[in-house]
Amino acid sequence: MAEIKTKRCCRCNQILPVDCFNKRSRAKDGLQAMCKACKTKWSQEYYATHPERLEEVKKYSSEWYKKDRVERKEILRELRIIRTGSSFVL
Ligand SMILES: [Zn+2]
Repeated sequence: MAEIKTKRCCRCNQILPVDCFNKRSRAKDGLQAMCKACKTKWSQEYYATHPERLEEVKKYSSEWYKKDRVERKEILRELRIIRTGSSFVL
């Protein structure tokens, strides 16, 4: 029988299977100290008390997607040029 690995959550102090924790590559055991449920609660509380951080995250992600779309357009254009041997107007 396979042994189920467990870990104690630093917030609710419950001993839970490691599946209940998000991964964190920088951590010694490769897992976050907080369980997923606590992390969700923590994020909600954190952003409720730090609305400016939420705005930053929103801004960052919208900029990222904008950039990504432009880059994708560029790649598509290059592919089109290679395939057809001519340029086209977007
Ligand atoms: Zn917890």
